Amino acid sequence: MTFHSGFVCILGRPNAGKSTLLNALVGEKLAIISPKPQTTRNRILGIVQVPKNRGPKNQDPKKKNQVPKKKKTGGQIVLIDTPGVHKPDNSLGRKMMSEVREALDGCDLILLIVDATRRSAAEDQFVLNMAKRLGTPVFLLLNKIDLLRGDKQKLLPIMNEYRGLHDFKEMIPLSARKRQGLDVLLEKVIENLPEGQPYFAEDQVTDQPARFMVAEIIREQILIETSEEVPHATGVLIEQFEEGKKLTRIAAAIYCERDGQKRILVGKQAQMLKKIGTAARMQIEKMLGVKVFLELFVKVQANWRNSHAFVEELDWRRQLGAASEPVKVEELTNHR
Ligand code: GDP
Ligand code: MG
Repeated sequence: MTFHSGFVCILGRPNAGKSTLLNALVGEKLAIISPKPQTTRNRILGIVQVPKNRGPKNQDPKKKNQVPKKKKTGGQIVLIDTPGVHKPDNSLGRKMMSEVREALDGCDLILLIVDATRRSAAEDQFVLNMAKRLGTPVFLLLNKIDLLRGDKQKLLPIMNEYRGLHDFKEMIPLSARKRQGLDVLLEKVIENLPEGQPYFAEDQVTDQPARFMVAEIIREQILIETSEEVPHATGVLIEQFEEGKKLTRIAAAIYCERDGQKRILVGKQAQMLKKIGTAARMQIEKMLGVKVFLELFVKVQANWRNSHAFVEELDWRRQLGAASEPVKVEELTNHR
């Protein structure tokens, strides 16, 4: 019996449903999701174990006269969710696109996910050109088919359009949100991965540190509660993370770019900050399985999205790997 394993990169335009697909396949909420574009800023790794010999669910092994279904290969899929591909106009955007390039580097298979209710083939040309250059095989995933209400005919013109752009290994309609089509996807992915050993322990679902996931949960609440520029101009840094036996103490700084944004984030009598804090704390407690004391501060850091150093400061991989002293955010005022 063979075991297949490899790195699979989920790529696509903002809002196509990349993070929803990652969470659905892993079965855990690893990535935050919102209807606002550019929610995901870092590449996020999620590990899926696909057991061997997955028999079809309704088959009774004792029954005779049953057509034996072929045994399926098992394996480990290392998925990488990425920021939506867009033209960057600041340091944050450029960082997000470098995250996409790093995810693509050395991956075995690309899942290009598109919103099947929108015509956007031309906008995906950029991703397809990258795939072509690297020679990596690509699946086209037509997501959000739940919105087509059973009218699969509507997929045909989109499929034809994409067929004209690239030689896709597979085209798979699915709904990440309703978990439709995911079994077929997993099966095809495993088939297309090389034979090999697992890369991660069987019980591991991600490589993200808990403190980064906490920062993301706080950012997700900000995405839910605020609008216009505020969610995009917000970055969250964990300043304290102390695990106690009964209580974990967390302090986080919410950075925005202007006083007006700070006023919105704090709200009248700090109502907004309390709302964000309470909702985030409940989710963090659920994730960590302990009581949490969460303190939030709002700080203004003018133009931080244009500061390469500050954007790097938000990157947990940098934080872990930093050999030198991390850059102090206070030193970055007016940095461009
Ligand atoms: P990303 O930017 O590509 O990571 O997209 P997200 O996963 O954050 O999803 C963007 C929006 O599309 C969110 O509001 C999701 O709930 C929604 N969405 C994702 N997948 C589906 C789907 O299969 N069906 C529907 N109806 N909505 C979806
Ligand atoms: Mg996302």
